[in-house]
Amino acid sequence: MNKPSIGINDDYICLDAKNASFYYGYEVGLCKDCGIVDNGDNCPNDSDHEVEWCFKATCKGIDEVIIIPESKLGGSDRFDVTEKLLAGIGWVLAKYNLTIK
Ligand SMILES: [Zn+2]
Repeated sequence: MNKPSIGINDDYICLDAKNASFYYGYEVGLCKDCGIVDNGDNCPNDSDHEVEWCFKATCKGIDEVIIIPESKLGGSDRFDVTEKLLAGIGWVLAKYNLTIK
């Protein structure tokens, strides 16, 4: 099946395509103080630390998991999840020479 699957809510969005998976939202957080990425909205070291939501991509043919914090994605509203996801996909497309087969 090549049909993409899209899930969207107030605080996350995901796009699953056959060879790639893209996510933005609260489930991937980067602590601005510790610099660590964790699953969730809170820093595992200190709940007072500020955590940024992140864009996350996994693509067939790219070994690394791509993580981009919301501050780099642009836009002003962290809840504008569609804009953030599109920006993240744009970063991926700009960085990698993806080929269509
Ligand atoms: Zn922290």
